[in-house]
Amino acid sequence: MTETLHIVGGGMAGSEAAWQAANAGVKVVLHEMRPKVKTFAHQTENLGEMVCSNSFRSDDDEQNAVGLLHWEMRQAGGLIIETAHKHRLPAGGALAVDREAFAESVTAALTAHPNITITHEEVSDLPAEGRWIFATGPLTSEALGAAIQAETGADRLAFFDAIAPIVYAETIDMGVAWRQSRYDKGETEEEQKAYLNCPMTKDQYEAFIDALLAADKTEFHEGETAKYFDGCLPIEVMAERGRETLRHGPMKPVGLTNAHKPDQKPYAVVQLRRDNALGTLYNIVGFQTKMKYGAQNAVFKMIPGLEEASFARLGGIHRNTFLNSPTLLDAQMRLRSRPNIRFAGQVTGVEGYVESAAMGLLAGRMAAAEILGHTLPTVPQDTAHGALIHHITGGAEAKTFQPMNVNFGLFRPLEGLKGGRRGRRDRYKGYTDRAKAEWSGWLADQVNVTPEPSEKA
Ligand SMILES: Cc1cc2nc3c(=O)[nH]c(=O)nc-3n(C[C@H](O)[C@H](O)[C@H](O)COP(=O)(O)OP(=O)(O)OC[C@H]3O[C@@H](n4cnc5c(N)ncnc54)[C@H](O)[C@@H]3O)c2cc1C
Repeated sequence: MTETLHIVGGGMAGSEAAWQAANAGVKVVLHEMRPKVKTFAHQTENLGEMVCSNSFRSDDDEQNAVGLLHWEMRQAGGLIIETAHKHRLPAGGALAVDREAFAESVTAALTAHPNITITHEEVSDLPAEGRWIFATGPLTSEALGAAIQAETGADRLAFFDAIAPIVYAETIDMGVAWRQSRYDKGETEEEQKAYLNCPMTKDQYEAFIDALLAADKTEFHEGETAKYFDGCLPIEVMAERGRETLRHGPMKPVGLTNAHKPDQKPYAVVQLRRDNALGTLYNIVGFQTKMKYGAQNAVFKMIPGLEEASFARLGGIHRNTFLNSPTLLDAQMRLRSRPNIRFAGQVTGVEGYVESAAMGLLAGRMAAAEILGHTLPTVPQDTAHGALIHHITGGAEAKTFQPMNVNFGLFRPLEGLKGGRRGRRDRYKGYTDRAKAEWSGWLADQVNVTPEPSEKA
């Protein structure tokens, strides 16, 4: 008899993890708290319930990073992606599904699996014994949240994300922006030039404030209290407090000299800070927002230097429980302080149905391999799965860590391909070709331990 794997949470990540581990021949107990304990967003007791949109986003596996993640998951026999394709609805290039049929089908597949037992109960602590995957998602129950916090420290588990928009570095106009830290602070030249600065004249600043105040904003969901703190107020709320507030806050122009026009003092400055070790992504400092995505795209492009910017992700503030994974998890998604416990899904700091399911797929395979005494080969960094896991467990800046969608900014550059917008199609095709070859190799390298399924008792 092999050891049982316990998985907490039957959402996107937990369902996928259970499927992968069970198919590897491991006995799984899946603990889901619904319907006994509810969340404000889930409506049913089904496993794999989509809490909001019914889309798994782009299915283009040549030019889109999330489409590539779909492709990789299908090659790995992913339950979530296979079921999504089974219940697909017409939606252009997107993979949209009939949500009820989708979740019912996921639930049926897991229920029928001979290696899976499903129990409906809340798990409210981190057990000292046994092997566990916690995939409890953005709405992790309160009691469990408190137990995790007790283990990790209060500052390493967030209950809201306050996401500033993230820009692809190559789309920032460096003829306008310049590199400089405020007051040239830092020991090394790299530190003294850590920020990108975008200057504004008075007219540009006034027009920007007008646009912020007029922009469409989203409301908090019912049950999702607007408990944001003064340290992370949405920029439009700051602008509502007074037209000068931003100029005295995240847009203050002090300690900075425009390298392109040293004689002109900017009226306000928007700063961007590096967001990943590769230096391909920058976040706009202090620009968390509740503006709708369309409005963000229009308003942020008013910032000089960002007129042509492409966003790896837009800003937001949401109820979201997530770990500071770069400091807490090892490369196998195990809690460093308690290696019998893994985390998977949105609680690890990825964002979205597909990304969460993908981290479940990896966690399920990793835990199964451990139980069966195999060594799972390292997930290749140049695949979509590899880029994501590398980001959350080490590539991201721990101090500013915020949930992340999969995007090509997380991929290591390819030698010999043109940068900038012009080279984008070839570059993306290069990334996806490289990823597909590496993912196929990784799957082929894994020992096939799938036993013949026995009848479910
Ligand atoms: C309001 C809202 C809207 C969203 N909209 C979208 C969207 O449109 N598109 C998108 O891609 N992503 C969206 N997300 C993010 C979305 O939640 C994730 O993409 C995805 O559901 C995360 O998968 P997961 O498996 O990590 O968590 P979930 O799918 O939430 O699954 C976690 C499961 O764990 C269970 N659970 C929690 N605590 C315990 C416990 N202590 N014991 C036992 N079970 C427990 C929960 O009941 C739940 O079933 C939204 C999130 C929220 C909160």
